[in-house]
Amino acid sequence: MTVRTRADLASLPSYVPGRTIPGAIKLASNEVSAGPLPSVVKAIADAATGINRYPDSGSAELTGRLADKLGVPADHLAIGCGSVTLCQQLVQATCAENDEVLFAWRSFEAYPIVTHVAGAKQIRVPLNSEHTHDLDAMLAAITPNTRMVFVCNPNNPTGTALRTEEIEAFIARVPRDVLVVLDEAYKEFVDDAHIPDGVELAKQQWAAGHNNVAVLRTFSKAYGLAGLRIGYAVAPPVVADVLRKVYVPFSVNALAQVAAMASLDAEDELMVRCRGIVAERTRVRGELLALGYDVPETQANFVWLPLGERTAEFNEHCLAHKVVVRAFVGEGARVTIGEPDENDAFLAAARAFTV
Ligand SMILES: *Cc1c(COP(=O)(O)O)cnc(C)c1O
Repeated sequence: MTVRTRADLASLPSYVPGRTIPGAIKLASNEVSAGPLPSVVKAIADAATGINRYPDSGSAELTGRLADKLGVPADHLAIGCGSVTLCQQLVQATCAENDEVLFAWRSFEAYPIVTHVAGAKQIRVPLNSEHTHDLDAMLAAITPNTRMVFVCNPNNPTGTALRTEEIEAFIARVPRDVLVVLDEAYKEFVDDAHIPDGVELAKQQWAAGHNNVAVLRTFSKAYGLAGLRIGYAVAPPVVADVLRKVYVPFSVNALAQVAAMASLDAEDELMVRCRGIVAERTRVRGELLALGYDVPETQANFVWLPLGERTAEFNEHCLAHKVVVRAFVGEGARVTIGEPDENDAFLAAARAFTV
């Protein structure tokens, strides 16, 4: 006899560690290439002397800091062990068996996994020909079983972003008992004034009595804390409350909480970095377009190359040039914007590939 595990989990991919190529430049995970700020490292080192104690399971101090920064009451916040864990908590908090979670595809890879693991049903709506959310098709896919809709803005992996009026028109037509989650992992790289700040948009919705909008943010990307695992949800109190109920106690560790606060202290410095990445994004995309690549306009810290059937070949080519990109075989490659010299190495590889 063997142990009985859930048969339905067989359809989920097992974890395969990423290929490590000595000396290669990693542009595969949308991390910020520059290392942590000295002030953040010092805060972590100082806090390390206290790790015999459990962390504050409610992340009260950080919650207070974020509430002030965002202009929302503290009961509108839930801190999580990375925003990917908050995605999981959102599904757990809204869905019972056979309830549906709707999202565009391709979008963030975690959405199908967390939905399936929670026992909910995933409904994927293809991106349109511009590699962006097809909001009309998403509205049409809502059923009485739909509990939640993920809207990744800007979208991972395509970098495309929805405008304020598009999102508002969408929310206006979503039933009020369906939660719309704006995943803003890349918000800090947005430089188009037509793309909303999701928290401000959500506040307006709440003020109008629409309590079905929530926003996810993370410290993993612009704030450079991917290795520490911390993010947050800004949500109406009914939603934030259930998120805290399904939270795995103590899962946001003490060093992550301290590092997040130190990063808020150093926000100006970090945002200067983001502007540098945005400038590099413009340069990289411009060069790729000049080389004949199709590259959708991107508002994130990566570019999307919809190479279709040539994606695997492009991936191998980049690996041979010691550049690790993120390939979605048969669809395209996502390439993170790194430091200028890293981007140059990628562009040299892209130049040597015949589009
Ligand atoms: C990277 C990313 C996140 C952040 O995940 P963390 O768990 O906070 O590291 C969330 N959503 C999207 C779409 C992402 O690309």
